[in-house]
Amino acid sequence: MIEKGNFIIEPSKQVPVIFKVDVVVCGGGPSGFIAAIAAARNGAKTLLLEHYGFLGGMATAGLVGPISKFNFKNTRIVSGIPEEFIEEMAIRDGAIIDLPSGNVPYDPEIYKYVAMKMVEEAGVQILFHSRVVDCISDVDIPEELTHVVIENKSGRQAIAANYFIDCTGTGDLVSRSKLPWEMRNNRGGELQPLSLYFRLGGVDTQAFNLLMAHDGVKYASVELKELLNKEVEAGRLSNFGGPWAVHGSTLRAGQLSVNATRFSGNAADGNDVSKAEQELRKDVMKIVEVFKEQIPAMKDAYLLDTATQVGIRETRGIIGLYTMTMEDILQPKGFEDTVAYGGHPVDIHRASDSKQEVSFLQKPYPISYRSLVPKGATNLLVAGGCLSATHEAFASIRVQAQCMALGQAAGTAAALCNRENIGVAELDGKLLREELRRQGAIV
Ligand SMILES: Cc1cc2nc3c(=O)[nH]c(=O)nc-3n(C[C@H](O)[C@H](O)[C@H](O)COP(=O)(O)OP(=O)(O)OC[C@H]3O[C@@H](n4cnc5c(N)ncnc54)[C@H](O)[C@@H]3O)c2cc1C
Repeated sequence: MIEKGNFIIEPSKQVPVIFKVDVVVCGGGPSGFIAAIAAARNGAKTLLLEHYGFLGGMATAGLVGPISKFNFKNTRIVSGIPEEFIEEMAIRDGAIIDLPSGNVPYDPEIYKYVAMKMVEEAGVQILFHSRVVDCISDVDIPEELTHVVIENKSGRQAIAANYFIDCTGTGDLVSRSKLPWEMRNNRGGELQPLSLYFRLGGVDTQAFNLLMAHDGVKYASVELKELLNKEVEAGRLSNFGGPWAVHGSTLRAGQLSVNATRFSGNAADGNDVSKAEQELRKDVMKIVEVFKEQIPAMKDAYLLDTATQVGIRETRGIIGLYTMTMEDILQPKGFEDTVAYGGHPVDIHRASDSKQEVSFLQKPYPISYRSLVPKGATNLLVAGGCLSATHEAFASIRVQAQCMALGQAAGTAAALCNRENIGVAELDGKLLREELRRQGAIV
């Protein structure tokens, strides 16, 4: 741990500005790659920055799945570019898109390929293996960004842009700016846990009671839960969640994706993330061993892979022009600037034990454009993991289809602002909504 007062002063250095674009999207996860496509299709010269060498974020690097939640009670609530994307995957046998729940099991390799192809076809420039490390603000207007600073194999570089979209999931760009944000547990409670997904091959998926996470039916595997409870009681495992052993980030016969590990920590803290990787990689081995020994359908199972990185549920959220609350989820009212609909239950995974608190919804709810706009922002928007929402509201909004729909909204908004040369808070939310509707989104 770094002791207080133990600092160095970095010498100032000249940083080359390698691109000048209209819109730069930081992070190529579900919200980011859709935001980049939307911005480019709406005429903005767009650059997408991504830390890994592929797109998809938690869906591919984290293997979290299925992609929730395209339907509410068998009716589509997300369309537009996100639906185009899953249809493209389905054409390549990479997704099942017609389940009544609107949850989409998928193949992560097809996901990576289709996402990249659609981004390239939209005319977006991609810069892989590039990490956002800082930003530069306007000298007179501190809330206005002029550059994002990245690091990659070439060293430290800057990109100039008119508009910036933070889709890092953890608010990495916003947290380096003068714009307001807070940790999602700031108003009390705990952050949702980190979980390392893994996939099994060699499973008798015909004999195994495969869950497809249909609405309102049992959510976790009861028999697997009993087994892991015994491991915790015997002190051989410190914690677990679910488990959910599903066709999620796989749809292949004989394979399962498993969400079962749980670590309590702050994923915006480098030390905590490292500890989570160390702990959970050991837990995966323990859990696989128990499943193989005790579940007849898994006797020949083998560990196909673990996720590239531990899954991060929540860290930072912006303090936006509007903050989505539990009331907005459970007793929804209309917004003039609705830019997406949500329909996933309020799904809170406890970090300190293996419990989960789920509140099912009566109807889908709208999400306001203003929850993507940090207070005081002139040229920065967010989408996905760092939108403005309370811990409870975010526990519903956080799933992938909603993050994608918000990505389409943020990308379109940034392109419209660029066209009109206006600030992100000046954009008329009603006009944005009409434009999104015209472009196939359900809003
Ligand atoms: C354990 C777990 C289980 C989940 N289960 C489900 C589920 O079953 N269904 C579902 O729909 N959703 C699920 N989710 C939620 C899902 O992961 C999120 O909805 C989604 O990934 C959010 O998308 P995003 O684009 O905001 O962020 P992310 O997916 O986190 O993507 C962020 C992207 O930005 C990149 N990045 C981050 N920091 C930087 C940086 N500084 N510089 C450059 N690039 C950067 C990352 O590499 C990544 O590609 C789960 C999440 C977790 C953690």
